Amino acid sequence: MNIKSASFVISNKDINKCPVPDKPEYAFIGRSNVGKSSLINMLCNEKNLAKTSQRPGKTQLINHFVINSKTEDPWYLVDLPGYGFAKVPVKLKSKWMGFITSFLKNRQNLLCTFVLIDSRLEPQKIDLEFMEWLGENEIPFVIVFTKTDKLKSAEKKSFLENYKSEMLEVWEEMPTVFVSSAEKHEGKEELLSFISSVNEGW
Ligand code: GDP
Repeated sequence: MNIKSASFVISNKDINKCPVPDKPEYAFIGRSNVGKSSLINMLCNEKNLAKTSQRPGKTQLINHFVINSKTEDPWYLVDLPGYGFAKVPVKLKSKWMGFITSFLKNRQNLLCTFVLIDSRLEPQKIDLEFMEWLGENEIPFVIVFTKTDKLKSAEKKSFLENYKSEMLEVWEEMPTVFVSSAEKHEGKEELLSFISSVNEGW
């Protein structure tokens, strides 16, 4: 699939104000600074569709973009707020996660959530717990490891093996995994063809 057009639709905190759920939808989420904006911009061939490096914790809205709107295969891309930013007070964190969890649980057309994970870090509790929560709530997701250009090929291999063994302590099988680098434009075709194949079942 090629992305021919990508445009911003609406931002809000309320699932009832999100666009009518008449197209397949995919959400992108991860810890602040994971590289989410860069990945979205890479997928959409845009420099500034999602805003990179905004002050973490500032983009606390559900952001809808419509992709390929004038084609036969339009879909929604949703840029969700980054989680786990240390400077956000705990109270705000739970309120903040509240509308995201409600969105993830209740959005009827949400076909898959892309959980972005920084490949430079050891498995983080917050990511593992978030994925467990998705699993418990039967919310389909895949993992996208970001910034893999920072790793040499042997390091990448051992990172992936280590992550997998950590997850398999809890999971019966590993979710689908993609590796990406916005810097090197890697992972784009794989992610877009995955979306394309899921769209076929819509
Ligand atoms: P967000 O907060 O998750 O939206 O993250 P951003 O896309 O704003 O990226 C956070 C930081 O990571 C920025 O300094 C980016 O330049 C950097 N970054 C994002 N993607 C990559 C990548 O693929 N490779 C490298 N090396 N750096 C990246």
